[in-house]
Amino acid sequence: MDNDRASLPPLRVALLGCGVVGSAVARKLTADAADLAQRIGRPLELVGVAVRRLDRDRGDLGLDPALLTADAEDLVTRADIVVELIGGIDPARELILRAMEHGASVVSANKALLAESGPELYAAAGEAGVDLYYEAAVAGAIPILRPIRESLAGDQVHRVIGIVNGTTNFVLDAMDSTGAGFVETVERAQQLGYAEADPTADVEGFDAAAKAAILSSLAFHTRVSGAEVHREGITEVSARDIAAAKDMGCTVKLLAICERMTGEDGIEGVSVRVHPAMIPLSHPLASVREAFNAVFVEADAAGRLMFYGQGAGGDPTASAVLGDIVAVARNRVAGAPGPGESAYADLPVLPMGEARTRYHISLDVADRPGVLAQVAQVFSANDVSIETVRQQVVRDEDDLDAAPRAYLIIVTHTAPDAALATTVDALGDLPTVHEVVSVMRVEGQH
Ligand code: NAP
Repeated sequence: MDNDRASLPPLRVALLGCGVVGSAVARKLTADAADLAQRIGRPLELVGVAVRRLDRDRGDLGLDPALLTADAEDLVTRADIVVELIGGIDPARELILRAMEHGASVVSANKALLAESGPELYAAAGEAGVDLYYEAAVAGAIPILRPIRESLAGDQVHRVIGIVNGTTNFVLDAMDSTGAGFVETVERAQQLGYAEADPTADVEGFDAAAKAAILSSLAFHTRVSGAEVHREGITEVSARDIAAAKDMGCTVKLLAICERMTGEDGIEGVSVRVHPAMIPLSHPLASVREAFNAVFVEADAAGRLMFYGQGAGGDPTASAVLGDIVAVARNRVAGAPGPGESAYADLPVLPMGEARTRYHISLDVADRPGVLAQVAQVFSANDVSIETVRQQVVRDEDDLDAAPRAYLIIVTHTAPDAALATTVDALGDLPTVHEVVSVMRVEGQH
């Protein structure tokens, strides 16, 4: 640090929340204070840590206990940088707005809030002339938002596909390696600490949808909210689906898929969706195991890029938060905020029916002549082309007089999701189809 800067007062940092992530940030801010000061050009001073329960045992945080406060509203008015690690919508949103009104730059890891109120928060940051950084909100430790926002700002990103929820990846990976069903695997994940007591936000895809909204907003210079993301969770994924994927040389992943595409009426838009899908084992995302995250980006000039690492946990997430603290602190030292959000493209969010994908469909059908032709006719009537068909004869050992049945396993070529969904409905209405056993999208082979 040069002498002029060394004489400047420290930048005041307020921490909101001291849970899994907040406590890791607090420890590192203290332990690495000298290095951080060198990197920023001015020291940081932690001026307070807001919590809900002052009497909670927090172990040794390496902090002066007098820094803990239950008065977050007051704390945000006394800082140059406010780090929001409370989570949820309110009071996090109100505290961030209040902090900005008082001139503080904000760092947050709150994907739910960014996906719901991003535009309001960006506008407030712009008006106040402060920064709003949130690298930790998507994929924990993995640097992905700044690379999209800054490193790829000169390229055209056309697709982002991510495994952005560690809990669901852990569950699907465990189902794949053990052959077990969904319910028992979630229970195991809860025992091991990979799933919350109430796993709804993860297994129903809400968490991944919030992250997909943030990724697509940045990648396509457009505003996408969490509510606009088509969302299907993994609760319906069965051991049979996983086995069917294996038969095809695939694995099942919960994917967040963000694409820039031309809709049916010729208008360019974005398709943003979260759903389970089969991906070939040769795809880089297939090798993402356990609770790890990865984001695969395709851009015109850069080609294909893969970002991989730990998507959650105190220390990994703190790494991303601290990177943001250093970045906004450097902007303060330089005297101006960094570039604001860019939503100039203002593309419409296309309906799910227009997304182009492929389906893997298993049917339980009567095993007699003409059934395959009837099934093929349904596909052709809906303008969906079949890539492969496999037939497995099913024998009922308990009832040798039962009418012969077969499984038809069909993989389609790429088609609009609406046409594929209508095809599945029509197949279910055929008298020779006993049951549509499973339907899953196939991705990663465009
Ligand atoms: P957490 O362990 O539940 O901690 C939340 C903290 O906020 C606690 O210290 C709590 O106080 C405090 N708090 C809650 N309400 C408050 C209020 N009204 N005023 C002041 N403090 C309040 O949460 P976390 O796992 O650290 O997550 C924090 C944020 O990081 C969330 O937005 C989350 O989505 C995001 N994130 C987390 C991870 C991860 O691996 N955990 C990864 C990426 C992003 P008490 O301690 O007194 O209860």
